[in-house]
Amino acid sequence: MDVPDGFRDREVVQALARRIDATARRIGAGPAGRTLTFMEVCGTHTMAMHRFGLHALLPDGVRLLSGPGCPVCVTPNRLVDTAIAYARLNDVTLMTFGDMLKVPGSTSSLSAEKSRGRDVRLVYSPTDAVEVARANPERRIVFFAIGFETTTPTCAAAVLAAREAALENFFVVSAGKLLPPALEALATGEVRIDGFVCPGHVSVVTGFGIYRDVVEKHHIPCVITGFEPVDMLKAVLMLTEQVAAGEARIENEYNRVVRPEGNPIAQQVMAEVFVPVDSEWRGIGMIPASGLAVREVFSAHDALRQLPVEVEPPREHKGCICGAVLRGARTPLECTLFATACTPAYPVGACMVSSEGTCAAYYKYGKDRPHVAPRNVAP
Ligand code: SF4
Repeated sequence: MDVPDGFRDREVVQALARRIDATARRIGAGPAGRTLTFMEVCGTHTMAMHRFGLHALLPDGVRLLSGPGCPVCVTPNRLVDTAIAYARLNDVTLMTFGDMLKVPGSTSSLSAEKSRGRDVRLVYSPTDAVEVARANPERRIVFFAIGFETTTPTCAAAVLAAREAALENFFVVSAGKLLPPALEALATGEVRIDGFVCPGHVSVVTGFGIYRDVVEKHHIPCVITGFEPVDMLKAVLMLTEQVAAGEARIENEYNRVVRPEGNPIAQQVMAEVFVPVDSEWRGIGMIPASGLAVREVFSAHDALRQLPVEVEPPREHKGCICGAVLRGARTPLECTLFATACTPAYPVGACMVSSEGTCAAYYKYGKDRPHVAPRNVAP
C-alpha cells in the first residue's frame, strides 16, 4: 500500500516529538518526575514503532509499552497442541496462517509436524481453506482460525461459504479473540497504563464503541491510530494532551480510514457465526467473554465438536517470559534467552515467532538498543 503523503516526513515527526516533550513537561513528566505509560495493544503498531525507531524520539517522561495485540502470541499452548493433534490425524489437512506454523506448542509445532510428513499448509485467506475442502472431498480440512476482530469476519465468511456449498469436510478450530475484554484485563492489571494506542485495523471493523468501557469505567484515554510514524506520534501526542487536561476520551487519529460505526456488515457476519465465550490468553489467563466459539447452528463445521482429539496437558517453556511481555510487565531484554537461545530462526516462545511479536520486533530492529525498562509497575 502506498504511504500517504507526508506521513513519514522527518520534520513533521520531529515537530510532533517536540510537542509531546513540551506537553509532558507541563505536567511534570520527565527524568525527575512521573512517567506516562501508554500501551500499543496492537502488534502491527509494535513493529512500526521499532521499525521507524520512534521510541528514540519519545522524551524521558513518556514511554510506549507493547501489549498483547498479536493473535499468534496470545494463542495459548493448549490450543496450539490441539491444532497439532488434528495435524497428526491421517485424513486431516491442517491449515492456518503462516506465523502459527512455527509457534512451539508444549512438545512440538505445526512446522515440525509438517516436516514429519503431516499435511500442514499455510493460507493467506480462510477462503483458501474452503477451496481446498471443495477440491479434496476425501480429506477433512481443519482451519486453525486465530485472529482479532480484523480477521474474524473473513473466518466467519469461510464458514458461511462452506455451509452454502454443503461441504461436510470443512472444520474450524475457533481461536478468535476479542479486544475489549483484554483491554479491561489490562486496565485492572499489574501495570499502570495512562492511555491506549488503539489499533486502526480492528477499529475499521468495530468502530469506536469497543473502547467506551475502558474510557468511562477506568478513565483511560484511547486514541485510534494508523501505522505510519506521523500517525503513531500524533496518537502519543493526543494521549499526552488528554492526560495533561485530566480527560479520558476516545479520539480517532485514523479518521481517513476508521468510521465511528465501523463496518456493520463485517460485524454482522462475525456475530452470525461466532458467539463470545470465556477464553484463555497466553500470559493473561482466562478472560471472560474474550474468545469466540462457533455457534450451535454451525456446529457441523466446528472441529472441537465434531472431531474430538486427545491433547496432552500443556507445558510452558522454561525461561520464556512471553506471558509477562504480553502483559507489558517485562520487556524482551529481561528474558535471559533473548537473542541467545531464542532467535527468530530458533524461537523458544510465540513472541519471537510472530512477525508482530514484541520479541521479534526487539530482535529485528534493535536488539542492542536499551529501549525502555519497565517502570510504574505496582508493588
Ligand atoms: S525472547 Fe524468546 S524465550 Fe524470551 S520471552 Fe521472548 S519469545 Fe520467550
